[in-house]
Amino acid sequence: MAKRRKYIYFFGDGKAEGRAEMKNLLGGKGANLAEMTNVGIPVPAGFTITSEVCNYYFQNNRKLPPNLQEDVVKNIHRIERVMGARFGYETNPLLVSVRSGARVSMPGMMDTILNLGLNLKTLKGMIERTDNARFGRDSFRRFMQMYGNVVMGIPGEEFEEILESVKKQKGVEKDLELDPHDWEKVIELYLKMIEGKGKKFPLDPWEQLWGGIKSVFDSWNTARAITYRRLNNIPEDWGTACNVQAMVFGNMGPDSATGVCFTRDPANGEKVFFGEWLPNAQGEDVVAGIRTPLPITKASKKSLAEVSLEEYMPNCYKQLVNIYKLLERHFKDLQDLEFTVQNGRLWILQTRSGKRTGMAAVRIAVDMVRERLISKEEAVRRVEPEALIQLLAPIFDLEEKKRAIGRGRLLAKGLNAGPGAASGRIVFSADEAAKEAKKGPVVLVRIETSPEDIHGMAVAVGILTARGGMTSHAALVARGMGKPCIVGCSALEIDYQKKKMMVGGKTLKQGDCISIDGATGEVLQGELKTYPSEVVQVLVEGKLKPSEAPIYRYFDTILNWADEIRRLGVRCNADTPRDTGIGKKFGAEGIGLCRTEHMFFEPDRIEAMRQMILAETSEDRWKALEKILPMQKGDFIEIFREMPGMPVTIRLLDPPLHEFVPHEDREIKALARKMKVKPAWIKARVNQLKEFNPMLGHRGCRLGITYPEIYDLQVRAIMEAACEVAKRSAHKPVPEIMIPLVGHKQELDLLRKRSEKIIKEILKQKGVKLDYKIGTMIEIPRAAVRADQIAEAADFFSFGTNDLTQTALGMSRDDSGAFLPEYVRLRIYQRDPFEAIDQEGVGQLMEIAVQKGRATRSKLKIGICGEHGGEPSSVEFCHRIHLDYVSCSPYRVPVARMAAAHAVLKERQNLEMAE
Ligand code: PEP
Ligand code: MG
Repeated sequence: MAKRRKYIYFFGDGKAEGRAEMKNLLGGKGANLAEMTNVGIPVPAGFTITSEVCNYYFQNNRKLPPNLQEDVVKNIHRIERVMGARFGYETNPLLVSVRSGARVSMPGMMDTILNLGLNLKTLKGMIERTDNARFGRDSFRRFMQMYGNVVMGIPGEEFEEILESVKKQKGVEKDLELDPHDWEKVIELYLKMIEGKGKKFPLDPWEQLWGGIKSVFDSWNTARAITYRRLNNIPEDWGTACNVQAMVFGNMGPDSATGVCFTRDPANGEKVFFGEWLPNAQGEDVVAGIRTPLPITKASKKSLAEVSLEEYMPNCYKQLVNIYKLLERHFKDLQDLEFTVQNGRLWILQTRSGKRTGMAAVRIAVDMVRERLISKEEAVRRVEPEALIQLLAPIFDLEEKKRAIGRGRLLAKGLNAGPGAASGRIVFSADEAAKEAKKGPVVLVRIETSPEDIHGMAVAVGILTARGGMTSHAALVARGMGKPCIVGCSALEIDYQKKKMMVGGKTLKQGDCISIDGATGEVLQGELKTYPSEVVQVLVEGKLKPSEAPIYRYFDTILNWADEIRRLGVRCNADTPRDTGIGKKFGAEGIGLCRTEHMFFEPDRIEAMRQMILAETSEDRWKALEKILPMQKGDFIEIFREMPGMPVTIRLLDPPLHEFVPHEDREIKALARKMKVKPAWIKARVNQLKEFNPMLGHRGCRLGITYPEIYDLQVRAIMEAACEVAKRSAHKPVPEIMIPLVGHKQELDLLRKRSEKIIKEILKQKGVKLDYKIGTMIEIPRAAVRADQIAEAADFFSFGTNDLTQTALGMSRDDSGAFLPEYVRLRIYQRDPFEAIDQEGVGQLMEIAVQKGRATRSKLKIGICGEHGGEPSSVEFCHRIHLDYVSCSPYRVPVARMAAAHAVLKERQNLEMAE
């Protein structure tokens, strides 16, 4: 008989069927609960239903596998034996939590149900056992509220309203002021309200359990979970596991507590034990930001009024310290723990790799190598390439901030949950954020955030909440997104209805400007100038020395380790000497694209360019070009000097003509005066040049073919500049002349011949020996499929994936904004193809070009210079298809270096798995 598929993994009493490595099947939470049990940590017993069941459930019209029921019953009995309690029994009843848990953490996105198993009968048992009616009834009403909302779909507010009405009737404000009779009344009213809707609250614990399990699986496909997956590129088919675990209670009285903690600071990576707790509370009170929690350690107390866990429960604290150290050593990563103390006994409910900011990721990874916990390779693997962008993000100008504070603009101080500086207009809801962010930067201000706010958080430049701690939803999500964030700013009194907030005696309305400093927790009125990050101050501005910049040193260390791993070269796209210098400081090993037309956007240069474009005769064109030659040559000299001995790919003119010619009367008149022609002539000429589809029009090498003098002049400027630099420098320049928009070998043949003639003349005339290359961009499909022929005339290829995407997909680069977001939303394309290479389409063309190009010339150098060259998944693809280098904008060079190293690590991992 075929072996029955194992859908359930048990853990408890020091033994577990699962392991940490089984995250794909058991989800992160389930795998770690199993691992913790195996290493002897006190974990309440439970079991994990695998993520395969979730997939089965959706593939079978929301039905669970036939044998599951039998297995669940068996495993509930196993929990009963370990915990010494009985599910559904009046004496010593067992209550369970039912929680989701995907293979990567999706904080707050899916459903959780606590206290499951309570009904009027078990409640009686609970009360008898604990001798605490208040606790028992409060637990029951919490359960009803959660179950009613999550499983039965009754809006949470309807429960809240009943609770508020009971409090009002009694004339109290806080839940804690209600006595057991009041809670009994709340329960009665809840039951009545549910009945009034024609529904029946299930009082059979087994029925509750099935409802809970199904709703956890259902929550994989709620709108907010889908949005989160889209934002974080999490595949649909991973599914979630479901954990059923014995409940322990942090709200059983003053000797009970609950909390969350991090083994290091997740905001800046510092090696300090860090966390928050609440006495006499349940876990969600801390995480959901409903009450502002207390610090765990004495050292992190902000005022004498706060009581730390270290002081309040010294024994549990000591045990917790031992456990956190053990767990960090065991998992060799920053851990985020959830714990509960029930009547003086400590239980660990969860451990996982903690979410952290980019800054913390880099620091923790480097520190852990120094502490000999992990290898350099592992450190590199732990830092997501995009996370490095956060280390380049601006901070406030400290002097200006001081002045603003001096002038009374400091409104309040909250918890510094996500570093970075942000200024923007206030919005009080996620929907407003989504709307207003289109007009300019917004700061999302909420009492607390919930998973429904995710779309607003994604577009806001910063997040500020009145409630919640460092581990609240807002803090976790903002850190994951790398956004500046302040939480627990209790001085804010927010009125959603009137769209205003009162703080420090002032009233601010929606649309007013505020600034938040996520590194210090300060909230300031009005806009504040931002100031470059430490890394930028060292590398770009030279205002700080590396010895004065600890964050920079971490950044530099991890990138040097990435360089030891990567195979791909990394260059930058730069059109000016300044950008070239920045790119080099960020680690670029040459220039992959210098767009020569961009050198003419400056006001004093654009005129010469316009004259050249408008010229009717070759003679007039020459006249304008003669003005252009010295300007280009001067720039090239400086660029070559910035990149001594490194390849510099200069692309011959590929102007979007329509972007250069004047359209407004004022500009036309000014140009007419300069050119000594009539404005009407210019207008007519502009009209003549007008194209219906300029992107597919007279551009790229087509311009070089029709007006050869333009390319002749540019080749001259490049080579004269290279010769000048070569004569004076120890490292000779390495010019690579690149012809754009080639589709046919004939185009390249023609232009190459002309260029070579000029190059040879100049080298001879200047008496200089120089290595140079002439190559082409591959940016239209014909070039990709005829790459074997084109390679005969090219020393190198560079993929212009902006145009290649545009032409392969038949989607205008400039107009696709009108429909692409919907395409991505509907998952027609998983990602915007102008952002991440469409590997199945455009990528196929690239593979064909690589294979055919190298069939003709085995050593053909191939790179990429479209925007995709700095996007991690595209960099990985370029590595896989054996490109020699990627090129991207200067500030993305660190991301590309990291992504190139990740590509190697992934390749190694795949090879290991295949063996
Ligand atoms: C490209 O098309 O990818 C490219 C780099 O050229 P441009 O963006 O200048 O058209
Ligand atoms: Mg292009």
